[in-house]
Amino acid sequence: MKGVLKLGSISGIKIEVHWTFTLLLLWVAFLEIQQGASLDRILFNEALILVLFVCVVLHELGHALTAKKFKINTQKIMLLPIGGVATLEKMPEKPGQELLVALAGPAVNVLIATLLLLIVPVKSYFNFEAVILEEVLYEATFQNFLFYLFIANVMLVVFNLIPAFPMDGGRVLRALLSFKLGRVAATKIASSIGQGLAIVFFILGLFFNPFLILIAFFIFFGAYGENRLVKQNSLLKGHIAKEATLTNISILNPANTVQEVIDITLAGSEKDFVVLENEKIVGIITQKLIIKNAKTPSLSVDTIMDKVFHSIDASTAITKVLELITKEKKDFFPVTEDGKLIGAIDRTNISEFILLKTSNSKMND
Ligand SMILES: [Zn+2]
Repeated sequence: MKGVLKLGSISGIKIEVHWTFTLLLLWVAFLEIQQGASLDRILFNEALILVLFVCVVLHELGHALTAKKFKINTQKIMLLPIGGVATLEKMPEKPGQELLVALAGPAVNVLIATLLLLIVPVKSYFNFEAVILEEVLYEATFQNFLFYLFIANVMLVVFNLIPAFPMDGGRVLRALLSFKLGRVAATKIASSIGQGLAIVFFILGLFFNPFLILIAFFIFFGAYGENRLVKQNSLLKGHIAKEATLTNISILNPANTVQEVIDITLAGSEKDFVVLENEKIVGIITQKLIIKNAKTPSLSVDTIMDKVFHSIDASTAITKVLELITKEKKDFFPVTEDGKLIGAIDRTNISEFILLKTSNSKMND
């Protein structure tokens, strides 16, 4: 991905910072300079943001390393100005495991806050009168630095435990409900509670803080997406790739030209193609490749095809295919049965399959 700074990796998990993160640092420096702050204070705030984001990385590592215990890998942890995102391959479906993975993140911040509590005289801060406290906190001292860090970690815990997707609290709630109700029903209830909270935040935001409106949208669509995903996965349970495979596909040979592929594309609705040579799959031609090479229509397919591809066995679970689509960021896979090509599968066809299953299950309700 462009605009990403790679910081390194821990236990095989890449840690990356998105370029927009530097905007946050610049913005804070800008605000301070505008108020005529001293260099000390500017450095104080910049350092605070950096250390706070280390805490965010540790929070995400809490999730990722706990998930690893349940054999779920995490590709990377990305830092954005709004926080951190750990891309776990999936969430564990067993409620006990999900509960532990969801709680592990906030637990890290509880731990950090507790350690800070041991060295920062937090109580004495709360004994100050408001006006004096404001003055005390304005000083760029090391003790103030740790106090801010303490408050920030407490806020991270509170914010993340809001019982709504995509927050950790939403997952905790779902996991707790799942013990009794099963995952699909639990997700439905948890996401309804989340959407209810989103409406409360929205109304509060109108009167008090517009930032709450932003959080409201974040939660509302997070809940919607999670409910859809879980419903979809339960619909797809037990179904295999073969059922959603396009069998009526045009097959290319390596000598076909780009022009010939363009003709097929325009004549029908196929966008991506499998290239076959002596009954063996030798490559994939995607719509992207065709568009890229449209200016040289006489080129043969084998010079531009993607030779790095994954074939899917017809008996593979469809949920596994969806995981593969997300993981490899590819949308089109040849499908084989007993080693022979029988068709291809793509995201569009899986979506159609899901739609059909959804209307079937509604009729059976
Ligand atoms: Zn978290």
